[in-house]
Amino acid sequence: MLHVVPIFCGDRSDVLGPLAQRIAATFELDVEHRAPAFDPEVAFDASRGQYDSRVLLQHLRDTTPREATRVLGVASVDLFIPVLTYVFGEAELDGRSALISSFRLDNELYGLEPDPQLMFERLVKEAMHELGHTFALLHCRRSDCVMSSSTYVEGIDLKPDRFCDRCLRALRRKLGNSKIGRRR
Ligand SMILES: [Zn+2]
Ligand SMILES: [Zn+2]
Repeated sequence: MLHVVPIFCGDRSDVLGPLAQRIAATFELDVEHRAPAFDPEVAFDASRGQYDSRVLLQHLRDTTPREATRVLGVASVDLFIPVLTYVFGEAELDGRSALISSFRLDNELYGLEPDPQLMFERLVKEAMHELGHTFALLHCRRSDCVMSSSTYVEGIDLKPDRFCDRCLRALRRKLGNSKIGRRR
């Protein structure tokens, strides 16, 4: 069971259903949508004007019931960790919690025409990537793998929304489920 938790999603919450469908198909998990059980404002850092990704991740983990094997927070605000200017998302390696944000996946942030479909594809890739970390996958050197790391949004566009053979095998071993990761 995967819990999907919107964090300040506002008018972007319409992507949550389609996003959950794609993730459910990829990881063969049942999905439940749930409102956050904490106030996400606790993660706001006034000096940076951004939200601390680690604080959100910790609250997500601590407020998720046991029956959920995974929780994915989907934020629309700008996330950071102290050593980096920003992050697209973060996850607990071989853990239960993952967090992504649509904030820097939006073309309009870069002065370009809005492209909701492109933004959705970016969000799917980030969700797959961060959830991949929760299944103990590390960063992959293969550029044709969703587990390759992306520093810039262009990097997300260059990688596909699937795992390379090696990462897929590791994922299947982890779950003992041969269906995991099969394309929709
Ligand atoms: Zn990563
Ligand atoms: Zn890979």
